[in-house]
Amino acid sequence: MNIALVAHDKKKQDIINFSIAYKHVLQNHNLFATGTTGTRITEETGLDIHRFQSGPIGGDQQIGAKIANNEMDVVIFFRDPLTAQPHEPDVSALMRLCDVHLIPLATNLAAAEIVIRALGRGDFEWREIVKQNRSEDIDK
Ligand code: PGA
Repeated sequence: MNIALVAHDKKKQDIINFSIAYKHVLQNHNLFATGTTGTRITEETGLDIHRFQSGPIGGDQQIGAKIANNEMDVVIFFRDPLTAQPHEPDVSALMRLCDVHLIPLATNLAAAEIVIRALGRGDFEWREIVKQNRSEDIDK
């Protein structure tokens, strides 16, 4: 599975702690992240993460593009709901695309715990079928 990890600045420590706790699950997947989030998680966990640009300069949109191309399976986005974000339109666009394409999206620690446990159990294997069907459609 391709998993995107993003955290607003005040939630960076939370996503690091989350990544340490669930490293045993995350390490079995292809990980992607916005720039600073990815750098911090890799520093603290050693996990191999493909890093996009930093969120405010386009990283959220790059993850959105992967969703639009059916190349992202799960998004874990620790949002800070108490701080204004200069790139709020990008954040909204990313969440909207998750809804458009039925991509599981966790926007806080409590939801992320549920998603990561489901991931560990293989509950998102249906994504492989969706991806296969879509690519067959494109081939037609
Ligand atoms: P960052 O971006 O990981 O580069 O800090 C996250 C965001 O604010 O969208």
